Amino acid sequence: MNKISTRFAPSPTGNLHLGSLRIAFYSWLFAKKYNGNFFLRIENTDIKRSNIKYNNNIFNVLKIFNIIWNNKPVYQIDRIDRYNEIIKYLIDNNKAYICICNINYLNDIKKKNILLNKKNKYNKNCRYKYIDIKYLKKKNKNFVVRFKNNMNGEKIIFKDLIYGDIEIDSNEIDDFIIQRSNNIPTYNFCSVIDDCDMKITHIIRGNDHINNTPKQISIIKSINENIPMYAHIPIMLNEDKKKISKRYNNNNIISIINNGILNKSLLNYIYKSDFESNDNNIFNINYMIKNFSLNKIKKNYKIIDMKKIININKIIIKNTNNLYYELKKYSEKYNRKFLCLFKNDIYRKKIEKILNLYNNNFNTLKESLNIIKKFIFNFKLDFNIINNLINKKKIYFLIKLIKLVIKEKNNFNTKFIKDELEKNSLKLRNISKLLRYILINNCNGPNIFKIIEIINKKKIYLNIKKIINFYNKK
Ligand code: GLU
Repeated sequence: MNKISTRFAPSPTGNLHLGSLRIAFYSWLFAKKYNGNFFLRIENTDIKRSNIKYNNNIFNVLKIFNIIWNNKPVYQIDRIDRYNEIIKYLIDNNKAYICICNINYLNDIKKKNILLNKKNKYNKNCRYKYIDIKYLKKKNKNFVVRFKNNMNGEKIIFKDLIYGDIEIDSNEIDDFIIQRSNNIPTYNFCSVIDDCDMKITHIIRGNDHINNTPKQISIIKSINENIPMYAHIPIMLNEDKKKISKRYNNNNIISIINNGILNKSLLNYIYKSDFESNDNNIFNINYMIKNFSLNKIKKNYKIIDMKKIININKIIIKNTNNLYYELKKYSEKYNRKFLCLFKNDIYRKKIEKILNLYNNNFNTLKESLNIIKKFIFNFKLDFNIINNLINKKKIYFLIKLIKLVIKEKNNFNTKFIKDELEKNSLKLRNISKLLRYILINNCNGPNIFKIIEIINKKKIYLNIKKIINFYNKK
């Protein structure tokens, strides 16, 4: 038997989303599990919709997840001669034919079919005509090439590794187009020729392609090649239960990663949605390779659950040994607006203290960096918020506090605050929201004394000063 070979065959018509990542990941896991090949094929014969920027997106995303392909990627657009060679063979052998029906004629057929409540099928008008292809080319006339479905009601049966045996009446299959009028072959045709030439043994793809499979099998039979195994994975739907659009989607992988979700979290989310019900278990790649099994994939559609992704991310962040390093890597690669925190590691100690203070409890890497930034750098105070938190007594307390900060400078510590609170008969809980807001721009957060231990005293001074000035002016 041939070495197991799978492929990921995206069309570069949009950024990769979670659904496509899942297909790539499963095709790769399957190949890894059986020590096989995993190939990458860029299906770019739809010239109008394909865009090179999406090729790069495909490469980048796969690399982020370490889903590395064997050999060089195959570009369909480079293989047009090969496809034409087979199309010529099919025409010469009476397995395909030229069709010159124009769009108006095809629309009429369509209308009639609708009226008769019939499935729209081409009426084989050109099947028995003699059409001189050389003449058409010379006169620059439009034509397409259609596949001749000669199966006369024979059943097409294929075994799907997820859905089991699928049986289709070959009469259901049209004399479908295999080469467009622009001379470029269609997806169904190119895909088959490539799968055969690349010796793909297992085609793992979304179940939105299940209707293409009988057509593809008829092409494979017509060129006497082996029929591969199929696994049609139930596709993922957006949170609104709609199919994820490649061009317009919020589930674009790069933006999810930019938002501070770790690649490990996404892979765990995908894997767990099919193979594990316990939300808290986190798996490494080797475990996933070992336990991957196509026939355990659930047949129902998956709805993307962002909350679950964040929950997994939170667990992984919490268990990250060197979160400082992870954050630095993230800032360098995906979110350079935080790079200022990692210059020469000058803030390293401080950042580590902050991470410790929060017990590594963050939903995303970005969230943690936004918090850290507030500890270290200045931010704009919103006096609307402060107005709701402040009163005369508290202003008075802040004035005292600021004097203490000046007086004690580096010695200033939480004890002074405690004493001062007592003297002003204020309880910590009366003032902690305000203080937190002043210090870290958030009313909620860890213990205020612990925050003060970390924050630069000059910053404490300046922020309190701003508030006092504001109320003095009033
Ligand atoms: N190019 C197709 C897509 O992006 C994949 C087809 C296949 O895997 O056969 O959906």
